[in-house]
Amino acid sequence: MSAADDSKHRAATRLVTGGRSGDFANSVVNPPVWRASTHLYDSCADLRARKSENADGQFFYGRRGAPTQWALSEALTALEPGAAGTVLYPSGLAAIAGALLAVLRKGDVLLVADNAYDPTRSTAMGLLQNFGVEHRFFDPLDHEAFEAAFCDRTRAVMLEVPGSLTMEVCDIPALARIAREKGAVSLLDNTWATALGFPALERGCDITITALTKHVGGHSDVMMGAASAGDRWYRRLRLGAQQLGQVVSPDDAALVLRGLRTMGVRLERQSATALALAEWLIARDDVAHVLSPMLPGTPDHAIWKRDFTGGCGLFSFVLAGRDDAARCRLIDALDLFGIGYSWGGFESLALPFDVEPVRSEMAWPKEGWGLEDRYAIRLSIGLEDKGDLIADLAAGFAAMNEG
Ligand SMILES: *Cc1c(COP(=O)(O)O)cnc(C)c1O
Repeated sequence: MSAADDSKHRAATRLVTGGRSGDFANSVVNPPVWRASTHLYDSCADLRARKSENADGQFFYGRRGAPTQWALSEALTALEPGAAGTVLYPSGLAAIAGALLAVLRKGDVLLVADNAYDPTRSTAMGLLQNFGVEHRFFDPLDHEAFEAAFCDRTRAVMLEVPGSLTMEVCDIPALARIAREKGAVSLLDNTWATALGFPALERGCDITITALTKHVGGHSDVMMGAASAGDRWYRRLRLGAQQLGQVVSPDDAALVLRGLRTMGVRLERQSATALALAEWLIARDDVAHVLSPMLPGTPDHAIWKRDFTGGCGLFSFVLAGRDDAARCRLIDALDLFGIGYSWGGFESLALPFDVEPVRSEMAWPKEGWGLEDRYAIRLSIGLEDKGDLIADLAAGFAAMNEG
């Protein structure tokens, strides 16, 4: 079995076969943990020869990884049509910052989607600005404004879909095409759908980034990030990561690889439960809006149906005319939903967030929304029984309305 053989199989199979081409592949099913800083050479001539090579999957020194990390990279590359390779980073945010640092230089302008993950915005406004990279936010739903935002120094475009918290689905193929025509490199934070739900490079993006901490790890016990790209940009990413000294531990890589094997069935189940809960929520009088592209009838659903082959368990809803205290009564009464950051694990989570004007280019609160509908909750749906989760939410709403 080799990575090349993987290409003739569908994604569900590639989750199982990916990353199993190493020397160990005939002896054990999943690659073992290779802990190594020093790699040994056969001779001085061997040492000298390897030094100049800098090829993937070659022993050199621990910072370039060992078979466990290589196996994970190989499996992620096999999952991403159009990818030549995958670079691993110690967190999702490290992958975003590392990829941006690898493609940008002083004097460049970076366009950032206005609905990007908040720490991505902070990296643009902080670190990158300090290194002489300017940024502009743009509304990813307004293609004319996007085109108008380019100047002759625009080097890169940072996209995310669906929008962080607000869950809009923009037309990634169209935005990536415009970026390419303008000579800019497009990067997509594809953490929500993963390569299973949205093959980003095939849809026109140059670099696709995933917080493996979420669905791929899947068990809320490990942090990691990845960036995959075709040959040209993969080389840049890899060099950038080497110069930044980025490396992930083999123990963590083994955990993420173990998570990856079951990601397909977890996402299917979590998507189905999330859709059922979204439908249950939208039918309630005390819910003003449900923000999920998987929900038929929403404006984002058509584009999601067109471009995506799957979803996940993450979505949000806005309470109708309730205050913060009422929202806290609801969340605090939940038994099965933990209160915490992150998402994509096997357990359900609930997180409060406010509908406040945090966007600079997009209408948020959305046009036509009532001013009194301000308190929102983001849910990450895990693998619990659907009926149990609905009963838990019903008890939460009862506590809210009794208060
Ligand atoms: C969590 C998250 C990240 C960052 O991942 P970490 O591993 O927590 O650094 C990036 N993008 C999105 C969309 C995320 O949800």
